[in-house]
Amino acid sequence: MNESISKPGLNRRDFLRASSLLAAGGLFGWTKPATGHNHGAASSARSFSLTLADLPYAFDALEPSIDARTMEIHHGRHHAAYTNNTVAAVNEHPELLGHTLEQLIKDIPALPRAIQTTIRNNGGGHWNHDLFWEIMSPNGGGEPSGKLAEAIAAEWGDFDAFKAAFKQAGMTRFGSGWAWLISDSAGRLKITSTANQDNPLMRHIVDELGTPILGLDVWEHAYYLHYQNRRGDYIDAWWDVVHWDHVDSLYRLAIYD
Ligand code: MN
Repeated sequence: MNESISKPGLNRRDFLRASSLLAAGGLFGWTKPATGHNHGAASSARSFSLTLADLPYAFDALEPSIDARTMEIHHGRHHAAYTNNTVAAVNEHPELLGHTLEQLIKDIPALPRAIQTTIRNNGGGHWNHDLFWEIMSPNGGGEPSGKLAEAIAAEWGDFDAFKAAFKQAGMTRFGSGWAWLISDSAGRLKITSTANQDNPLMRHIVDELGTPILGLDVWEHAYYLHYQNRRGDYIDAWWDVVHWDHVDSLYRLAIYD
């Protein structure tokens, strides 16, 4: 029996996730990676796999909100570097093979000390950008509907008030980072922001944990070519490409029961 599923503090959803991963043969003693016990992982011939997926639309598809050149550099250089650096770091530690990226970034302090910062920055960067591309669409914009709209109204009153609060989170993130809309397992929403490539899934790293369902990259590399220092204009225009149907699907996945 894998020790991780009897670890105190794991809720039922974690248990179910761990169980399904065990069934798939994907989780090998994650709670004690430093011991070297690697229950059944035939790691010698394997390598850590992480794919830089193509964008789900053309580089120019999000214009005029985000220009093509920015998208091309952002995806092809910045995101690609996060991906490559993560793969290189994990492959130096065969005991980690078999874990998903999400498992790795959820418990950074449990990783070998030599790669904690690399995985925090680059593993976080890969995860964050995968989300970012998916929650945007050339057919985006408008407002959420259904359960997500109700949850937003419950917290902020109306959609405009939500947008103002989210923009504020992006504007007040000094330097590089992200603004987030996160959900807890009961569906309660919260707006947060993190520095650099930190992510609301990172236990022991970020103050406010939750499942990210919407993320806005406010690093200068995300907007500087077109907007220069006008971060607020970038955020205002970004609402036109937010893919609310996908955000809603992430919200429903984040809710347990
Ligand atoms: Mn970025």
